[in-house]
Amino acid sequence: MNAPVLVINCGSSSIKYALIDSDPKAPRLAGLAERLDSSDARLQGSNSRGESFQQPLSGADHAQALQAIFARLEERSPAAIGHRVVHGGEHFTQAALIDKNVIDTIETTATLAPLHNPANLAGIAATRALFPDLPQVAVFDTAFHQTLPPQAYRYALPEALYTQHGIRRYGFHGTSHAFVSQRAGDISERGAGGWLVAHLGNGCSTSAVWQNQSLDTSMGLTPLEGVAMGTRSGDVDPGLHAHLHRQLGWSLDDIDRVLNKQSGLYGLSGLTNDMREIETAADGEHAGARLAFDVFCYRVAKSLAALSCALPTLDGVLFTGGIGENSSQVRKRVIHLLPHFGLALDNDRNAITRGGREDRIDAGSGPEVWVIPTDEEGRIAAETRHCLETRA
Ligand code: AMP
Repeated sequence: MNAPVLVINCGSSSIKYALIDSDPKAPRLAGLAERLDSSDARLQGSNSRGESFQQPLSGADHAQALQAIFARLEERSPAAIGHRVVHGGEHFTQAALIDKNVIDTIETTATLAPLHNPANLAGIAATRALFPDLPQVAVFDTAFHQTLPPQAYRYALPEALYTQHGIRRYGFHGTSHAFVSQRAGDISERGAGGWLVAHLGNGCSTSAVWQNQSLDTSMGLTPLEGVAMGTRSGDVDPGLHAHLHRQLGWSLDDIDRVLNKQSGLYGLSGLTNDMREIETAADGEHAGARLAFDVFCYRVAKSLAALSCALPTLDGVLFTGGIGENSSQVRKRVIHLLPHFGLALDNDRNAITRGGREDRIDAGSGPEVWVIPTDEEGRIAAETRHCLETRA
């Protein structure tokens, strides 16, 4: 299948899109429709000459935004649409061609991702209504982590919570962890061995990947578990919820909001969820920013060390995501905290690796360290093609 794939990532008030050719060198048309259903709705993106555009879409809903996106595809008709779907539960171990059955199954999984799956489903419904003849494929954030063994995915909770209610660890950012670890296998002489992946962006997660299979990951039932993130707390004592409720009278919604939106770098620094600003403020001796940086890096290193238990051998550490790809300071601190693994950086290479550059940044003696820019859209397009080419 050579014609392009349109990748759609639908949020409750936004649609991210990218038109991706089978030739990786072909220019991508990509953009974002945001603030949908408001007077401020707008579409912004880039054309095939790399020029950016902005288009007001006042009051537009998802369907109207999708029509505006299609009008920006410069006559390059997509052969298929690949939808990012956050939660596939245990039902989906790989991408699935969307039909009524698949939609019903995604709906049953919505209880596990009430903020994300309904928006993904709304996007699927709108694109199916607008383009009924185009094949559409769902690509799940959770699917790559379906290879976790029970010792990694089960919580130490009563069994019925798992068997009757699906409460277990699922993991997220699967397309990114899959892309980056597979790429490491392609470019490293060590091949598809054992890699620890640190996907560090606004959302952050780590994983242990062995022979292209995810064996453990830091996120769990929801994308709140694990390392500290831009505004998410990551791991806290599970007793915290009861404590906040009993001592401060907080409702479940209050607790959920604070842990998801007011914690992480933002909560610790009292300043910002943006790592660039944290680094600048920390250089200027801002105590909160310094603490936020320290906690962030320590949690990432601790998570990688813990996940190493899942790997028979450690071939290297892979950094990706906005922070992982760009922050030499974060990479330096994280690797510095893991000396027992024989990890060491080439400080000069580390310092200059940013801005979408792929590079090996270790000192050459122990396990490798790579910066590998992630390509979640590219992976979704590739999985969409694969799904359509291999269907019965
Ligand atoms: P993402 O969600 O993958 O787009 O990543 C967003 C995060 O990457 C934000 O915290 C940014 O501050 C961070 N980031 C982007 N560029 C840099 C940079 N040059 N140095 C440090 N952090 C960066």
